[in-house]
Amino acid sequence: MTKIIDGKEVAAVMRAEIAAEVAQMVAEGKRAPYLVAVLVGNDGASEAYVGNKEKMCGEVGFGSQVRRFPDTITEQELLDEIARLNADEAVDGFIVQLPLPKHISEDRVIEAIDPRKDVDGFHPENTGRMIGGLPAYIPATPDGILSLLKYYDIETSGKHCVVIGRSNIVGRPIANLLSQKGWDCTVTICHSRTHDLAGVVRTGDIVIAALGKPEFVTADMVKEGAVVIDVGITRVPSAETKSGWRLAGDVKFGEVAPRCSYITPVPGGVGPMTIISLMRNTLRAAKREVYK
Ligand code: NAD
Repeated sequence: MTKIIDGKEVAAVMRAEIAAEVAQMVAEGKRAPYLVAVLVGNDGASEAYVGNKEKMCGEVGFGSQVRRFPDTITEQELLDEIARLNADEAVDGFIVQLPLPKHISEDRVIEAIDPRKDVDGFHPENTGRMIGGLPAYIPATPDGILSLLKYYDIETSGKHCVVIGRSNIVGRPIANLLSQKGWDCTVTICHSRTHDLAGVVRTGDIVIAALGKPEFVTADMVKEGAVVIDVGITRVPSAETKSGWRLAGDVKFGEVAPRCSYITPVPGGVGPMTIISLMRNTLRAAKREVYK
């Protein structure tokens, strides 16, 4: 029997835990955690992501602010803003919503963020700490996937995990984390140059699809009984919705699900976990849990 992993349920449990902790902090006279999102330009998807993060801040009792800048902002002006946020003691953590306009180096911007406030976990110092198994801010999507595996008590030790995609924000960190002690997977990373990708994916006890190609993973690529985690979210045209589009994952859910022991749907799987994991990182920042 296939079990559908309910990311909304797990996120709701975590949301209640975080909100209770914030209420306790406030009752003790402490300041509520404070998250700032920096938004450059007016890309529709980025607006939606930042809007959802701000809404979730309200739900868990955090203070929050979105700082908006036109896409004509220079790199130096953005770096100056980051320096101000680094120095602002009222701000526990902040994120710079990606992508940035072409004339701004994302690498330089990420490296300018104080690692202690880097709640997205994209700064190389946090990446290094994560790989070394030290306390670190772990990027929200991989962290969310780990929370799902833990909540459903899915066995990972000794399992072969095949990750499709090697981005810095999903594929590489989740592959690294699952290979670490405690998770103990044997991990293979596949990417656009992998030979016989379908054959490799078929050997996976756990398959994590994070390539951004709608319905790429089909039933013939998945071993009977596998755990399938679908990270992809792409808008595809649809005649069945008023908006004219729907969200599609990287997995052809209808035909893959019957073969799986566990599978995440899109939407409602990994997506809700990403935002709540960012909230947890912000709480950890406010409590100085990662950097003392
Ligand atoms: P990305 O474009 O940065 O990386 C995609 C990776 O997939 C690359 O490493 C590339 O080598 C690999 N790839 C591309 N085509 C391939 C192919 N044909 N075969 C094998 N590998 C291939 O993307 P990303 O930022 O990692 O995001 C991946 C998907 O996950 C996107 O759909 C994105 O929207 C989604 N996403 C969802 C969440 C969430 O909260 N659920 C968070 C982040 C990203």
